[in-house]
Amino acid sequence: MQTETFSYNDEQFADLQMLRYRVDGFERLALRQKELIYYLSEAALSGRDILWDQNGKYNLRIRKTLETIYTDYPGDRDSKDFRAFTVYLKRVWFSNGIHHHYGCDKFQPEFSETFFREAVQQVPAEKLPLEKGQTPQTLCDLLVPILFDPDVMPKRVNQADGADLIQTSACNYYGTDVTQAEAEAFYSKMKEAGDPHHPVMYGMNSRLVKTGGRLEEKTWKSGGLYGAAIDRIVYWLEKATEVAENEKQAAVIRKLVEFYRTGDLKTFDEYTILWVQETEAQTDFTNGFTETYGDPLGLKASWEGYANFKDLEATARTEKLSANAQWFEDHSPVDPRFKKADCKGVSAKVIKAAILGGDLYPASAIGINLPNSNWVRAAYGSKSVTIGNLTDAYNKAAHGNGFQKEFVIDTETQQLLDRYQDLCDDLHTDLHECLGHGSGRLLPGVDPDALKAYGATVEEARADLFGLYYLADPKLVELGLTPDAEAYKAQYYGYMMNGLLTQTVRIEPGKDIEEAHMRNRALIARWTYEHGAAEQVVELVRKDGKTYVRINRYDRLRELFGELLREIQRIKSEGDYAAARELVERYGVKVDPALHREILTRYRALHLSPYKGFINPAYTPVYDKDKKITDVRVEYGEAYDAQMLRYSRDYATLPYTNE
Ligand code: ZN
Repeated sequence: MQTETFSYNDEQFADLQMLRYRVDGFERLALRQKELIYYLSEAALSGRDILWDQNGKYNLRIRKTLETIYTDYPGDRDSKDFRAFTVYLKRVWFSNGIHHHYGCDKFQPEFSETFFREAVQQVPAEKLPLEKGQTPQTLCDLLVPILFDPDVMPKRVNQADGADLIQTSACNYYGTDVTQAEAEAFYSKMKEAGDPHHPVMYGMNSRLVKTGGRLEEKTWKSGGLYGAAIDRIVYWLEKATEVAENEKQAAVIRKLVEFYRTGDLKTFDEYTILWVQETEAQTDFTNGFTETYGDPLGLKASWEGYANFKDLEATARTEKLSANAQWFEDHSPVDPRFKKADCKGVSAKVIKAAILGGDLYPASAIGINLPNSNWVRAAYGSKSVTIGNLTDAYNKAAHGNGFQKEFVIDTETQQLLDRYQDLCDDLHTDLHECLGHGSGRLLPGVDPDALKAYGATVEEARADLFGLYYLADPKLVELGLTPDAEAYKAQYYGYMMNGLLTQTVRIEPGKDIEEAHMRNRALIARWTYEHGAAEQVVELVRKDGKTYVRINRYDRLRELFGELLREIQRIKSEGDYAAARELVERYGVKVDPALHREILTRYRALHLSPYKGFINPAYTPVYDKDKKITDVRVEYGEAYDAQMLRYSRDYATLPYTNE
């Protein structure tokens, strides 16, 4: 018997580490399921260009230019410039554009402008993304400031309080002459005119532009903006309907196709309602305009897609949580006015991702809860997943890398983490996704977008706090989910260490915390640290010139999580914008420069990458002589650059310019 050698860790560059994930169990699926996953994978890869264009209007042209240099540059490929260029391209691939996937800042190339201009002149012109009348020279004139000038398109998503967030963000969701005030007025008017009880996701699937001084939406649909990519997605989705696991699933996919054809947001809601109610099939997918983190106003949804199948064993764990959803809701420290009387439909499962696409590739979430429409969630519930094979790859890759040894305060705490942290991490993700996001309710008449730019941070904090609070609950031991009453301490320690200290390894010196999940973690950790200071619940202690977190009173820390959960839920339920702003700006944004420097120095000495992403497996159908699929093979060996170039070749669905 031959054993395939499999390494979870792949190449490392800049602040990034590439990982591989396994799709164990795929071979054992029925042929029909394998075929379904194959078609859904193709659909998930076919929208890649949409995301690139959403992330910035020059990204597709830049990608083609850089890839042509990468494959065809005839000069010295070992020169300092070319090596720096390679790292730059790998970062651009990773971010689906020229801005950091997480921090949103534009990458500063470490190769020279001269190198770039000469390289463009030296590669075959027919391989460059030249438009009518354009020469390699004028292409360079267009791209050079975009790549090299730090003042041009400096941020993909700007969240700095006080600025015009649209004008100062480089994402391609609004015309260049549209202001934040105009966009906000446009959408509040649309909301007012709409159905207040069943509001659609206004603005979700369009670019807002000004034509002749008037604002109008350019809808992403078949025949509209991004139509060519959408038609390819539809082609694969239609194939998928033929091998769907059941009639309900076929109806889900058909409804999605209808949405892609019409761009009608009511149809989108109908689709999500069908999707959330289809819980019997083992295979499932997401495909479409989904998360709004890439829009400073939180309206426009970036394109993502993935296919997955249920891990039956691990799902037993999350089903226990879901079955007890009402118990958790009833016993939470939240004011009864903000609780759900009827906590329903939180379906939860552990899945294996089979492919990652769009905004889930190569960096991916490990837990996903959809749909995002508040009224659909309230009326029909939501589907919640934890992606077990990705978590597993993270854990395996992190084993013994020295990180905890450097930052954890003592061996006793280290042993606590060794023993319980993997388990608690999974459980915290389950609680966050299955129960946290699904808990609570808005008071009648409260606008779900009332918290505006602070909405995402508050929502993540709500879900995290729900998870933290309940990890320590005896109910989890009773349900057999945690082995004993000590286990939660591992998560509490890890969470506080991350929120107070180590998550700042992802921030450049002098910068603020911008990303919603990071703001939420800082908010929770610093708020509880400050509010427990008089009782020394959590301390920051110095040993040999290094700062560590010490938790003296885990039980009291749990109460503080409960208090903050209560307040965060109030803010959400009442739509208290002023309070949200005050909390987030005070605890979630700023970084202590001296402490930050120390953490970065200690972290750099470990030579680890703060961000990780995944190389996809490749699926190849096996055909018989009548062109019928008889099997689908899964392979893991593809290199990062080979995969990116293959995707750019095989899934180039859009023109370079999409106006
Ligand atoms: Zn979340």
